[in-house]
Amino acid sequence: MKLFVVTGPSGAGKGTLIRGLIGRRDDLEVAISATTRPQRPGEEDGRDYYFLSEAEFLARIEAGDFLEHVVYVSGQRYGTLRSEVARIHAADKSVVLELETKGARAVRDAEPAAVTIFIAPPSFDELERRLRDRATESSGEIDERLELAREQMREVDDFDYVVLNDDVERAVTELDAIVTREAAGVGRLSAT
Ligand code: 5GP
Repeated sequence: MKLFVVTGPSGAGKGTLIRGLIGRRDDLEVAISATTRPQRPGEEDGRDYYFLSEAEFLARIEAGDFLEHVVYVSGQRYGTLRSEVARIHAADKSVVLELETKGARAVRDAEPAAVTIFIAPPSFDELERRLRDRATESSGEIDERLELAREQMREVDDFDYVVLNDDVERAVTELDAIVTREAAGVGRLSAT
């Protein structure tokens, strides 16, 4: 049982690739994060996120319930619940975390055996187009996410693997191969 961390800038397509990967494999499950950001149309509490109030989130930090937690754009909090990781491992499955880069680095430091995968968008223009097309945030918030994405792109070398999301099917196939390789204990391609 492994811990896979999928990271990269908002709009790189992490969620889409993870859904594709999970669709191909029954030995993986995504940990549901907690957040204080508002629920988007179509999202469900307990499926997409556990949507918490600021007070609830702070109480869970105090209780030591998070493996990592961060403050992201507009002061919104996101965090990985230890209980989610435990639930998935208890089902004999490997865990997939979808995290922005700060949380990904925190998990990498706390759990050195974690496998970290950076999803890169094909270009910055494409990333901007995806974020604006999604149109679920205000333009100010999108600008904030883009600014952060520029910084996050510079962190690409901090992670074990980089997968370019130029084509969803191709990128999912590459992710699938990484998981197979790591699950078999073969390790990094660079280490061979
Ligand atoms: P969104 O608001 O678009 O759902 O997520 C914003 C960013 O937060 C995305 O890059 C997403 O991967 C990241 N994220 C989601 N859950 C967590 C979490 O539990 N911890 C951290 N550090 N980042 C998260």
